[in-house]
Amino acid sequence: MDQSQIDALRAKPVPAFAHLIDGQHVASSDGATMDIISPIDGSVLTTTARGTAGDMHAAIASARAAFEDRRWAGQPPAARKKVLMKWADLIEAHALELAVLGVRDNGTEISMALKAEPGSAAATIRYYAEALDKIYGEIAATPAEILGMIHKEPVGVVGAIIPWNFPLMIGAWKLAPALAMGNAVVVKPSETASLSLMRMCALALEAGLPPGVLNAVTGEGAVVGEAMGLSMDVDALVFTGSGGTGRRLMDYAARSNMKRVYLELGGKSPNIVFADAPDLAEAAKVTAGGIFRNAGQVCVAGSRLLVERSIHDDFVAAVAKAAEAMHVGDPLRVETQIGAVNSETQLKANLGFVDTAIAEGGTVVTGGARILQETGGYYMAPTIVTDVAPDATLTQKEVFGPVLGVTAFDTIEEAVALANGTVYGLAGAAWTANLSKAHRMVREVRTGVMHINTYGGADGTVPLGGVGQSGNGSDKSLHAIDKYINLKTAWIKL
Ligand code: NAD
Repeated sequence: MDQSQIDALRAKPVPAFAHLIDGQHVASSDGATMDIISPIDGSVLTTTARGTAGDMHAAIASARAAFEDRRWAGQPPAARKKVLMKWADLIEAHALELAVLGVRDNGTEISMALKAEPGSAAATIRYYAEALDKIYGEIAATPAEILGMIHKEPVGVVGAIIPWNFPLMIGAWKLAPALAMGNAVVVKPSETASLSLMRMCALALEAGLPPGVLNAVTGEGAVVGEAMGLSMDVDALVFTGSGGTGRRLMDYAARSNMKRVYLELGGKSPNIVFADAPDLAEAAKVTAGGIFRNAGQVCVAGSRLLVERSIHDDFVAAVAKAAEAMHVGDPLRVETQIGAVNSETQLKANLGFVDTAIAEGGTVVTGGARILQETGGYYMAPTIVTDVAPDATLTQKEVFGPVLGVTAFDTIEEAVALANGTVYGLAGAAWTANLSKAHRMVREVRTGVMHINTYGGADGTVPLGGVGQSGNGSDKSLHAIDKYINLKTAWIKL
């Protein structure tokens, strides 16, 4: 990563962004735009179209037409694969440009963004492109005079609603399998991180995706997201974001056409450190990275540290030391390890959680405050709060910021009870050299992902999905394909 290339890209003005509907860049039907504020310094970066419900309906109609005339689903698999592969190549060719644009929009440190955004998006698109001609139908075990066939068909029009923390990576988790299976898609990026995703969608057209197969509409969730959710013409809704919005989407589906709704929601993931961890110094460093990278704005962030009491004080001191050594600042500097908080609203919410934690008996060991205010940007020191009770707000509610709550435990049973003591079940970790204890943690801690002696970093070969109120579906791996196909039975009398 070359700082001078990054600096050259950041010096470029960002053009205004419009919707992408039916292969055309179009303004909102009422001409309205929204200012895009950069969390790096609070400046106005550019504008995007502020979509209307009518804009969303136009995008859905375009996707419906593209699906019905089979301009994409009807192409030979090898042809679809070629387009998706070219799209991945274009993303890679524009990787730095996409990453810098995304960082200017959402504040993720560039060292993480480059790998986790265009790098991961291109890898995901290639994964599903490679898979698309390896998905077979089935023949059932029927009586001899019957042929029972199970076809796998695209579901139709897929609506994808994306959050702000990793717009390209999470966008690709939805768009790639949906398109690979022959669906038409309408995507709605987050208000506070839309630019790189809009650019990535435009690259799909350049790669040869027919117009109308992938449409993108920017604007407020409560307007264009709601219009998508309530549409009678969207067959499946795939979502990553907060539980509150996920709940609304289920309601929209119930009030409209009962479209399928797949939710990837928040978490309060427990990171459990036993005294017999193989390397406590390493565990402390990884623990700090597992909560503080991207300023804690990672769905699987290890936001609850559960530590065996005998090592509590020393381990917390080691994590605090690692946190204090992390470089917080301008996310477009290559040395930065913790970038900006995505928005001023989010920063205020983070600080509010710290105040509440203190009021509820917590002790701030390090951090706890806004920093670098003179930049005009939204930065927060990595924050560790100890003495967090099992029923405290900091245990029970997702912050989605750089705030780690710490709770001590004495026994394995207590660790499991604490780990399972929230409504969430997204990710977790256990650190122990004892193989039996490790497997017990995998079995007994209720999460979609359990790390052992590490935190985070799972690749596209394995699913990511939550249990409980962390969601009801999975992104990544071949399992994600199930969301984008219908099973259709052909029962044939021979
Ligand atoms: P959010 O729910 O506020 O917004 C997500 C998306 O929903 C945005 O595009 C937004 O415009 C849209 N939206 C908002 N209101 C809507 C409405 N009424 N109807 C339709 N759409 C609407 O979430 P966020 O703040 O952008 O993202 C952070 C959340 O995402 C956290 O809870 C985080 O844990 C979660 N997340 C989960 C995963 C996962 O894989 N499980 C990954 C990343 C983030």
